[in-house]
Amino acid sequence: MQAKPDVIVIGSGVGGGAVARRLAENGVEVLILERGDWVPRESDNWSVASVFHQKKYTAHDSWLDADGVAFRPSIYYNVGGCTKFYGGSMIRFRERDFGELVHEEGTSPAWPISYADIEPYYGQAEAIFGVHGDDAGDPSAPWRSTPYPFEKLQSEPRVARMAETMRRLGARTSALPLAVDYRESGTCIRCKTCDGFPCKLGAKNEAETSLLRPAIATGRVSIRTNTYAKRLLLAPDGKRIEGVEVEQDGKTETLRAKLIVVACGAINTAALLLRSANDKAPDGIANRSGLVGRNYMSHNQTALMGLSMEQNNTVFQKTIALNEYYFGDADYAFPMGHAQMLGKLQGGMLSANVPYLPKAVGSTMARHSMDWIAFSEDLPDPDNRVTLRDGQIQLSVRRNNLRSHRRLVGKVESLLRNCGYPIVLTKPLLKHSTSHQCGTAKFGHDPRDSVLDPYCRSHEHENLYVVDASFMPSSAAVNPALTIAAQALRATDHMLAQDLGISSVKEFRA
Ligand SMILES: Cc1cc2nc3c(=O)[nH]c(=O)nc-3n(C[C@H](O)[C@H](O)[C@H](O)COP(=O)(O)OP(=O)(O)OC[C@H]3O[C@@H](n4cnc5c(N)ncnc54)[C@H](O)[C@@H]3O)c2cc1C
Ligand code: SF4
Repeated sequence: MQAKPDVIVIGSGVGGGAVARRLAENGVEVLILERGDWVPRESDNWSVASVFHQKKYTAHDSWLDADGVAFRPSIYYNVGGCTKFYGGSMIRFRERDFGELVHEEGTSPAWPISYADIEPYYGQAEAIFGVHGDDAGDPSAPWRSTPYPFEKLQSEPRVARMAETMRRLGARTSALPLAVDYRESGTCIRCKTCDGFPCKLGAKNEAETSLLRPAIATGRVSIRTNTYAKRLLLAPDGKRIEGVEVEQDGKTETLRAKLIVVACGAINTAALLLRSANDKAPDGIANRSGLVGRNYMSHNQTALMGLSMEQNNTVFQKTIALNEYYFGDADYAFPMGHAQMLGKLQGGMLSANVPYLPKAVGSTMARHSMDWIAFSEDLPDPDNRVTLRDGQIQLSVRRNNLRSHRRLVGKVESLLRNCGYPIVLTKPLLKHSTSHQCGTAKFGHDPRDSVLDPYCRSHEHENLYVVDASFMPSSAAVNPALTIAAQALRATDHMLAQDLGISSVKEFRA
């Protein structure tokens, strides 16, 4: 353990992990603070009962909703954060997502950076996460200066057949960019327990395998697990963070470093900043704008199951994406969003989420289903926010922009029917949805209207950065992890040059 690291990173997810690896590979000493522990590799990793029914790996936390009703959030406190359980979809936001985008129910704001600013970092993030992909058939795909590191994962016959039928119906599908180790020498076996499960083989390219382990291997990164960052402490001049108060095994201590990087996930980051309020920052750290915790977004999401009499023997189902309606369609001029296949649903996963569903019925349905998920953009609303009530997180959300989401779901439903799945079941995933959390400390040029500058540095505190999805001024409509990683790399290059005096930065190597 370093006596005094150059940088303290709070949170070991994709944002914190990307910063730690980049810094360490450029000679910087880093201490990572992580409230959770390592996820053991064990048989429970791939057990539906352990993961979905007993929720063995889900955080034991209790938050309040807008009405003050307590719920257990579907969130993960462990080394690697949520990516240990993610589906591995590593997809770029579209070029137009960085500009102002007019929706039926409002406008999503422009980012302070353009797609061109972040594009090189998308390429580096894809290299480090070993992404397999191919944009052929994706009408909304942004331009790229580097090819995908690995060729797309081929679809199994049933999925390929559905993609071909959709294409004939006028809806092009494309390969879903995926971060699994399916290289020639790779260890991924394309199993059925990937999406939502940790990988027992370590073959999922996530924050632990692709960022933290290589970072620690440099010898410059230590990680303190089961260490909870309680508060950031302000220096007397109010300009710098002079320490982090942490709690481990019931003991409280203060740790110090030149730079403090917060990456606790958009909700916990807002909570940490708010919790750190003091007489110099009565509304919380970095919160002179009053925007910390506001503009919470998490996508409008609906799962769809297309059912047919024919059995679906697909094992690794999550191979295709549908972006045909991302920015609209001939009959609807507004963005609708994105759909992608889910990992193959299993009976136990259905009965875990629908308690009254008999297990046998769930298993039969799952054997006959094709499973999708549709994402649409939700719009930033200052009243959708994270606050603290007696120290407990309260998440108050009123869903918006649902009309375009319903249209997208209707389009996917109709495609599935026309592909030979006459019954389509849909389940909106809108309540307490936190998997794609973002927006709670947005970046921008104007300190009156943003928390962070365009490199994710606090406008108010010169040695404080925030590098998780909090920075996003809009949510776009595809999965966030690749964009979090790319912006974290971009922010780190800025830190290296501006704060640590290292200007010839070594880029990530896969
Ligand atoms: C089931 C699931 C599937 C998903 N699938 C995909 C997908 O296929 N593609 C995709 O792009 N995205 C996916 N996502 C979303 C993606 O995983 C997240 O956007 C991303 O992991 C967020 O990374 P992060 O670093 O911002 O935060 P997190 O992953 O939440 O990491 C934050 C870390 O900080 C730690 N922490 C929090 N508070 C403190 C504190 N006070 N002190 C110390 N440590 C703290 C937490 O324990 C955690 O490890 C999925 C999410 C879930 C839950
Ligand atoms: S599909 Fe591959 S990466 Fe995913 S859990 Fe299975 S072996 Fe691991």
